[in-house]
Amino acid sequence: MLKKSGVLLAAAPFYFGLNSCVNTGKNSFDADVVIIGAGLSGLNAALLLEEAGFTVKIVEATDRFGGRVHTAKEENVPGRPELGANGIGGGYARLLNAAQKYGVEIGEYRPRTEPRKGEILYAVNKNLILPEQWEGHAANPHPEGYRKGSPTSSAWSVYGKLNPLPKNDLTAWRTPEFHKWDRSVYDVLKEEGFSDEAIKLAVATNSSYGVDGKSISVLMYFQILNFIVQQSAFNGQGGAAVGGNQRIPEAMGAAFKQDVLFESPVKRIQGEIDGVTIGLKNDKKVRARYALCTLPASALRRIEMSPNPEGIQNNAFQELSYTPCVQIHFVPIRKYWEEDGLPPSMWSDTLAGRFMALKNDPQNPDRVTSCVAYLNSNVALEIDKMDQKDAIAAVTKTLEEMRPSLKGALKFTYYWTWVNNPYAGGAYAYWKPGQITKFADHMAKPNGRIHFAGEHTAIVNRGMEGAMESGERAAFEIMDLLG
Ligand SMILES: Cc1cc2nc3c(=O)[nH]c(=O)nc-3n(C[C@H](O)[C@H](O)[C@H](O)COP(=O)(O)OP(=O)(O)OC[C@H]3O[C@@H](n4cnc5c(N)ncnc54)[C@H](O)[C@@H]3O)c2cc1C
Repeated sequence: MLKKSGVLLAAAPFYFGLNSCVNTGKNSFDADVVIIGAGLSGLNAALLLEEAGFTVKIVEATDRFGGRVHTAKEENVPGRPELGANGIGGGYARLLNAAQKYGVEIGEYRPRTEPRKGEILYAVNKNLILPEQWEGHAANPHPEGYRKGSPTSSAWSVYGKLNPLPKNDLTAWRTPEFHKWDRSVYDVLKEEGFSDEAIKLAVATNSSYGVDGKSISVLMYFQILNFIVQQSAFNGQGGAAVGGNQRIPEAMGAAFKQDVLFESPVKRIQGEIDGVTIGLKNDKKVRARYALCTLPASALRRIEMSPNPEGIQNNAFQELSYTPCVQIHFVPIRKYWEEDGLPPSMWSDTLAGRFMALKNDPQNPDRVTSCVAYLNSNVALEIDKMDQKDAIAAVTKTLEEMRPSLKGALKFTYYWTWVNNPYAGGAYAYWKPGQITKFADHMAKPNGRIHFAGEHTAIVNRGMEGAMESGERAAFEIMDLLG
C-alpha cells in the first residue's frame, strides 16, 4: 500500500489538480478515500489515513479548516473570541496530542469566551441581582434545596443527584439498562418539585443544550455530567489554543499533504458497487473507493444520498436536532460597569441572552476587549428569524432597558449565527427524549461504502474530542476495508 501511495503522491500535482474532480470513468478513482468536511473529525481521519499510506481528498464547503471550531478575526471582534468551540478539557487526549504534534500552544481559556469568576450579575424578571442575593431573592423561582448557585445550576444539581450512570464507564449512556432514563428533563424536574416557571428559567432560557425541558433527554445530561467529571480529573491540562482554537485545525490542515477542495459544497453522494461518487456544485465530481461523511446531521439532510440510508438511520439523520446559537458582538465605548458599580457581565432571561464582557488582551488582562450577547434556546431562534439590523436593534434596546448604564455604551461590531448556517444548522447535536434509545446505535453505521463520523457519532467523548474520536474510529473502519 505504501508503495502504491508513493506512486500516487509522486504524481500528486497532476493527479490531484482541480481537473481531477471530473469523473474520468467507472474504474478510475481520485483517491482511496474522499472525506467530506474539514472540521476536526474529517481532519483527524484524513491525517490517520494519510499516515497509513492511503490517498485522501478532502472536500469542504467553506473557505477554511475547522468547521465549528471558529475563532473570530481581529478586524471583526477585537481580542478574537471563539465563535465556536471554546474549552478544551484536560482529558481531550487526541486534541491535545494534535496541538502538541503540530505546534499549537495551549493556554488559559476562560477569558476568551466567558466572563471571569465573580464578574456576573443575574438579570431575571426585570431585576438586577448579585449572585449572593440570588438564594433569597423573590425572583428566584426554584424550590427549596435548589435555590443556591445560579439560575441554571439548580437543574444540574438534580442531574447530579439522580445520575444512575457509572462514573467509570462513559459508554453506559447507550446501554439498554439506562434507556428508562431516556425521558424529558421537564418530567424529571417536575417530579423534583420544580414549577413551570423554574423549569423555564433553568433549562429553556439560556440553556447550553436544546430549546426547552421537553426537548431534551435527561440521559444526555447524565452523560454530559460524567464527561465533565472525567475531564475535571485532568484539571489544569486543558484550556484553549493560544491565538484561538482555530489554530489547531489549521495546523492539522497544514500537516495534511494531499489535496483539499475548499468552497466545494457537496450536493450528492452516490454509493456504487466499487466506489463512491461525490457530486459538487458546478457538476464537478470526485470518485473514491470509500467516502467518509463528517457533516452534522443538520447539514447532511440537505444533500442527496443514494442509496438512502436504512430506515432508522435515515430517521436519525432527519430528526437529530442542533442547539441554536447566535452571537451579537459589541465593543464597549464606555466603562458602563464603573458607572453603576455592578459586574460587567449579565446572565439574563431576556432577548439579550448571556451578555458577557470578555477580556482578551494579553498585554492588559483587565481590559474589556469586547462584549457578546450569546443567545441560545428559543431566544436564538427568535432572533435568527429577524432581519439582522432589527435583531441587533432589539438586543441593544433590551440591554439598555435592563441596565441604564448600558445606554449608548456599546458599538455593534459583528453578528454570527450557527442556526442560519447551511453547513452547521446549530452548535452541536442534542438528543430529544427517546432518541438515544432509537437512534444512538444507528448514527455511525456505514451505508455501503459511505462511512460516517462527526461529533454526533461519538460514543465516549463530547464536543471537539468527540469529533476527534469519531474521525479516528471511522479512519480505522475504512483502513480495515482497504486492507
Ligand atoms: C458555539 C459553540 C460552542 C462550542 N463549545 C465547545 C466547547 O467548549 N468544547 C468542545 O469540546 N466543543 C464545543 N463545541 C463543539 C465542537 O465545536 C464540535 O463538536 C466539533 O468542532 C465538531 O467537529 P466535526 O468535525 O464533527 O463537525 P464540523 O466542525 O461541523 O465539521 C464539518 C465540516 O463539514 C463542512 N460541511 C458542511 N456541509 C458541507 C457540504 N455540503 N459539503 C462540504 N462540506 C460541508 C462544514 O463546513 C465543516 O467544516 C462548540 C460548538 C459551537 C458551535
